[in-house]
Amino acid sequence: MLDNTPIVGLNEKACQMLGVVPTEAVGRPLGLWCPDETMAVWNRVFLDYISLKVSHEAETVIRCKDGSDLDVILSAAYPKRPDEQVFVVVGLVDISERIAREKALARAQLDLAHAGRVSILGELAASITHEINQPLSAIMANGNAALRWLNRPVADLDEARAAIGHMILEGERASRIIARTRAMAMKGSGEHSVFELKPTLEEAIEITRRQIGLLGASCTMHGCDTSVRILGDRVQLQQVIINLIVNAAQAMTSATCGDGRVEVHFRAEGRRAIVRVIDSGPGLDAASAARLFEAFFTTKTDGMGMGLSVSKGIVEAHGGTIAACNNAGPGCTFTVDIPIVLADEQDVDGGSPALRFA
Ligand code: ADP
Repeated sequence: MLDNTPIVGLNEKACQMLGVVPTEAVGRPLGLWCPDETMAVWNRVFLDYISLKVSHEAETVIRCKDGSDLDVILSAAYPKRPDEQVFVVVGLVDISERIAREKALARAQLDLAHAGRVSILGELAASITHEINQPLSAIMANGNAALRWLNRPVADLDEARAAIGHMILEGERASRIIARTRAMAMKGSGEHSVFELKPTLEEAIEITRRQIGLLGASCTMHGCDTSVRILGDRVQLQQVIINLIVNAAQAMTSATCGDGRVEVHFRAEGRRAIVRVIDSGPGLDAASAARLFEAFFTTKTDGMGMGLSVSKGIVEAHGGTIAACNNAGPGCTFTVDIPIVLADEQDVDGGSPALRFA
């Protein structure tokens, strides 16, 4: 139809937009100025005409004489003519500047998202070195122990075997941390499964036992015996609790501070699991409290300031919150609050759970 619809007239502005003089356009088919990819728009123009509508408006492009495409708002009006000759009046509004601005904005947003991702990767690279230190030290300690067992006049192969077994486990743990931290940086979330909270916390306490013992601290758990299940990345959430326990123990190292006891409390409250890590250290002054979760905020000489910032990212990716407040007595409490999976959200056949957050 477009190839059989001649242009019968166009004004000066239309000539400027198309880059033609009137004689180059008048009498020639409208289709010359309509790129193939705009056919859907022209189909609707004609369908609206057939269905006796008064007009049709759409954003599209027209092809100029020099072959470039111009972004326009096209409005087609179908005036009623007594002589039954069909005329369509086409109005064009040049919106190329607006479209160019929108494209520039979209590009800027992409660049910004990319810059954000690069900076998260930077943050995580720093956190990996921080978090990975623990399994690395354990690997070295177990390696030394294995050597000692082997170098004895009568080598104790069982002990050496056990030490090497620990090295492998710690190595696996380290690579799980790297793989899942990277997954978080790339996609926003790692592997998700439903897991029991209590053994996850017990394991976190076990993992930190040695490290906080060296700081003169110990950790105990207090909580309910009922099943509290979380849908999420177990390793990442465990990493959060490990960070909180180690921070608590580090805060209490000064001789004047507390009895070196860290308490981990947990309970289910409706559809949320609440985990509290409580210490009796110096607590938080107002300036630190405001900046705790900022990347690179640290008051420690050898600190990186990544633990709490990464922890916040992990907890929030699980639909939870993390907060800190001073205790009525000495020390402070870090509270993690995350959605739980309720019992009725498990498949009847006990298979994969319904992936619903509370
Ligand atoms: P880092 O441990 O490398 O300093 P974090 O992000 O884990 O990094 O902690 C940031 C800062 O928050 C610490 O340097 C410390 O000042 C403060 N902080 C964290 N936990 C405690 C706590 N339990 N008591 C007092 N201050 C704390």
